[in-house]
Amino acid sequence: MTNIKILARVKPIFKNNSKSCLEVEENEISVNKIQKKCNGDHLVKYKYQFDQMFDDTSVNWDIYNSIYIDILKNMMKFKNNVTFYVYGETGSGKTHTLLGNSNEKGFLNLMLSDMLEINKNNIHVNVTEIYNNKCYDLINDNKHVYQRENGKNNFVLSSSTIIKIESKKDIIELHNKIINNRKVGISSENNASSRSHLLINIKFANKNLKILDLAGCEKAKNSICDSREKFKENGVIHQSLFVLKECIRSLVSNKPYVPFRRSELTKMLKHSFDNSCKTFILATLSQDESNCGTSVDVLNYISDIKNIKSIGKYNLLPPINSKVNVNEKVHVNVNENVNENVQGSPRFQLLYKNKHFLKNLQDKENKLLNEMIQKKSTDNLFDDYSKVQQKKLKLIRKFNGKLKPIEQNKHN
Ligand code: ADP
Ligand code: MG
Repeated sequence: MTNIKILARVKPIFKNNSKSCLEVEENEISVNKIQKKCNGDHLVKYKYQFDQMFDDTSVNWDIYNSIYIDILKNMMKFKNNVTFYVYGETGSGKTHTLLGNSNEKGFLNLMLSDMLEINKNNIHVNVTEIYNNKCYDLINDNKHVYQRENGKNNFVLSSSTIIKIESKKDIIELHNKIINNRKVGISSENNASSRSHLLINIKFANKNLKILDLAGCEKAKNSICDSREKFKENGVIHQSLFVLKECIRSLVSNKPYVPFRRSELTKMLKHSFDNSCKTFILATLSQDESNCGTSVDVLNYISDIKNIKSIGKYNLLPPINSKVNVNEKVHVNVNENVNENVQGSPRFQLLYKNKHFLKNLQDKENKLLNEMIQKKSTDNLFDDYSKVQQKKLKLIRKFNGKLKPIEQNKHN
């Protein structure tokens, strides 16, 4: 299970007047999030590195092209099972990537077409939907199916329909069946958002490729939960996503216990959790500024899976509302109780080193000010005073994210 490749794709912005909160580079993504604090708004930058990034100009074919050779090689040459998860908030393009739309083909269609070219007598597909922790057979009119544990500690579906794919026509029929039978609901992003996990299992060359379109992971407050059932639906989705993460994490960190029995989703994926399984995870992200918090949650979830530490979280700018007033007396207060992430950063170390320097400057400034008041100001003294003050303000501006805002000294 150490065999994980993580990709991320950013969806284009379609709403007018929306701003992007993401910056994408080749294998690095940064989120610019405005965080409200008692001393004003701070711009916080989160950075993540994954194996490959796709910006908002990418098409479904780009994602397919980056992994299909690896998938086929694993199945045909190395005889491994392969799992491809797509994870993200509702409306971020999970289903679009897998199933496509009238303008472009999705991953499923492209994959099956290539398999047909290789060997058209060897492709079998079954499709299961997991809704409210229950399994339904999408090919057989949403019939309720059950998972049973067999003698080899594996879970098998009681009576799932398996179809053979032998032509392009079969692919189109399968695609239409999935679209028509899937349970959809209304979310804040999408009038036909999928409120269930979709698992497409393709058996090819005697190995399984499991393609998973996971249900949207947004918080209940961001989805339209207007009834008891909707809240329950949302809760069940989160629980299963949490268990999935815990399973993958246990495997990545070689823990002896893997809690796959806790949800139908992980029971179904049990035998793709072994060491010989190659896993691809695609995080889909909506770059809209209003969805910034959820994008950070998605990226954290994905980083957690691979035990990747976030490569940085920095306060970039001074509090947006605070102004530096040169004429005010400055009270400096360095907050040492910053969190672990920041303590290790070069920025924090620099700040810590400069704390004493800043204090010396403050003392020097006070001394000069007193002398000026007593001697009724001399030009030289005033020059010195402004030099010291400028030096100090420069230092404060540099670290203002970590310093308390400038306050008027009450004793003056
Ligand atoms: P999800 O499955 O994550 O809830 P969808 O895949 O249903 O989201 O996408 C929501 C809408 O956005 C759909 O109408 C889809 O066609 C469109 N969409 C998503 N990603 C893209 C993209 N990369 N390019 C064009 N349209 C997209
Ligand atoms: Mg969907």
